[in-house]
Amino acid sequence: MKEKVIIIGGGYGGLVTAALLAKEGHHVTVFEKNAIVGGGLQCFQRKGNSFETGMHILGGLRKGGSLNKIFTHLGILDKIEIKDVDKDCMDELHYMNEGRSFRIAEGRKTFVESLAKEFPHQRENLENYVNAMYTLSNEIDLYYLRPNTKDLFTSNGELLIAADKFIAQYIDDPNLRNILAYMNPLYCGVAGHTPAYVHILLNVLYINGPCRMVGGSQQIADALVEVIEENGGTVYSNTPVTHICVENREIQYITAKNGKQYTADRYISAIHPCHLFTLVSEGAFPRAYMSRLDSIPNSYSAFTVYITLKENSIEYINHTCYCQESYSDTWQYNNSDTTDWPRGFMYMTPPYKEQGKYARTLLITAPMQYSAVEKWSDSCVGHRGEEYEKWKATCAGKLISRAERILPGLKDCIKEIYTSSPLTIRDYYNTKQGAMYGFLKDCEQPLLSQVPIYTKIKNLLLTGQNIYLHGICGVPLTAINTAEAIVGENIIIGKINENYKTIES
Ligand SMILES: Cc1cc2nc3c(=O)[nH]c(=O)nc-3n(C[C@H](O)[C@H](O)[C@H](O)COP(=O)(O)OP(=O)(O)OC[C@H]3O[C@@H](n4cnc5c(N)ncnc54)[C@H](O)[C@@H]3O)c2cc1C
Repeated sequence: MKEKVIIIGGGYGGLVTAALLAKEGHHVTVFEKNAIVGGGLQCFQRKGNSFETGMHILGGLRKGGSLNKIFTHLGILDKIEIKDVDKDCMDELHYMNEGRSFRIAEGRKTFVESLAKEFPHQRENLENYVNAMYTLSNEIDLYYLRPNTKDLFTSNGELLIAADKFIAQYIDDPNLRNILAYMNPLYCGVAGHTPAYVHILLNVLYINGPCRMVGGSQQIADALVEVIEENGGTVYSNTPVTHICVENREIQYITAKNGKQYTADRYISAIHPCHLFTLVSEGAFPRAYMSRLDSIPNSYSAFTVYITLKENSIEYINHTCYCQESYSDTWQYNNSDTTDWPRGFMYMTPPYKEQGKYARTLLITAPMQYSAVEKWSDSCVGHRGEEYEKWKATCAGKLISRAERILPGLKDCIKEIYTSSPLTIRDYYNTKQGAMYGFLKDCEQPLLSQVPIYTKIKNLLLTGQNIYLHGICGVPLTAINTAEAIVGENIIIGKINENYKTIES
C-alpha cells in the first residue's frame, strides 16, 4: 500500500527521508519554513559569493562509502560537485601555546604514520587505537548499510564508554590523547559523557577520506528536491507548520502558515523534537516523554565569521585547519566560562567552481555556548539591537586576531565580513539553543538521549539528527530507519546495496 506522507521540516533529514519514500512510490509532501530548503545544507549568497551555513566537511562520499551508496541509490551523486581534500593532509592542527602543528593524512595507515612520526614512542599504541576504532565501527550494521541485527546496546560495551576514556585506554601520552580528540568540534564532545561510538564513527568516517562541496551543499538539497518532484512529491518552501492537530493519539491534520490544513496517512517530524512539542495539541504526548526529551542537554553552538577576501590575497587551502591555544582545550569547549573565548576555532577556504590558486572566501568557526547569547534570547533575526551587534563585532574581531597568528596579514586581506551566532543557528533551523548537532549523547545516561523513531502518536514518526546520529552521513542513516518503518525493514538497505553492486559490476 502506497501511503500519503507529510514531512514537517525540509532540512537535510526531511529531504532525504522524503526522497527515499518518494522513490518507493509513496506520495510525499514536505513543508519547510525557510524560503530556501535544505536546513543544514542551506547556503546564503552575499555579493556573488555563496556561504555554507551548516555543512563544510563531508565524510562517507568516497567510493564504497555509505553516503556514496545512498546518494547513488537516490541518483544524485552525479548532480553534485564534490572535491577530495588533500590526501596527505586532510586536517592541519595548530596548538598555539605549544607552538606545534601537525598535518594529519587520510587513510588508516597514513593517519597513524602522521602522528607516529611526531610521537614515535606511541606508534604501536596508535596502531592499536586505530585498529580498535575500525573493529568497533564494524559492530554497527547501519553504519555499513548492512541489514540491522544488533543495536548499540547489544554491541561491544567499549562503544558505550566515554570517548576520552576510550582514547586513554590505548594512548599513554597525555598530549597525544588530546590531539586524537581534535575532531571534537565535529561532534561537540564532552569529557566523561560523549560515548566512544560517536567519536569512533566520526573518526572512521573522516579517516576514510573527507570531501568538500564545490560551490556549496545547497546542491545536495536541490538534487533531493528534484528526486522528490520527479517521483510525484511536493516540496513547499516558506511554509512553516504552525499547528499539528492530535486527537486520540493520532494526527488529524497539520496547519501551515498559509492557513491551510493538510492531511495524510502518515506524518514525519524532521524538526527538533522540543520544537515539535510547541506545535502539537495539548496532551498529544505523555508528559513524561516531553519532560524526558526537554531535559536532554543539547550540543554546544558556534560563532562563525564569513569573510570575503580581497582578490589574490590568500591561497586556497584544500583541507580544514583546527587551531587551539593548548592541547587540553580539546575537551573544554563545553565549559560555560566564556572569559577566554575562543578556546579554539576551525578555518577553511571553501572551493568554488573553477577554483584557482587563490581563495575567494574564508570561514572561521568557533564553538560557543548558548549562554553567551542568552540575554538576547527573546529577539528575532534583524531585530536583536545595537548591543548585540556590538558584541558580534567584538567576537568577530577576537576570532580574526587569533586566526592572524596562523595567517599573518589576514586583516589586510579582508574585503567584507558577515557573522552568525548561536541565535542565528537557533532561528534558522528552529533548533533548541542553537545546538549544532541537536541532543548530546551521554554514556552516563545512555537511554536518556536515545530517541526512538516511533512515538506514542500512532501515525507520527521522527527523523533528523536528534534521533540517531548527526551530520552528513548520520542523518541519512536515520532517514533510512524512518523510511523503512513505512516501507519495511531492510528493504531500502537491500536496494541500496543491490543498486551499488550493479553499478560496480
Ligand atoms: C554551524 C554548523 C556547522 C556544521 N558543519 C557540519 C559539517 O561540516 N559536517 C557535517 O557532517 N555536519 C555539520 N553540521 C551538522 C549538520 O548541519 C546537521 O547534522 C544536519 O543538517 C541536521 O539535519 P536535520 O535534518 O536534523 O536538521 P536541519 O537540516 O536543521 O533541518 C531542520 C529543518 O526543519 C525546518 N523547520 C523547523 N521548524 C519548522 C516548522 N515549524 N515548519 C517547517 N519547517 C521547519 C528548518 O528550517 C530546517 O530546514 C553543522 C551544523 C552547524 C550548525
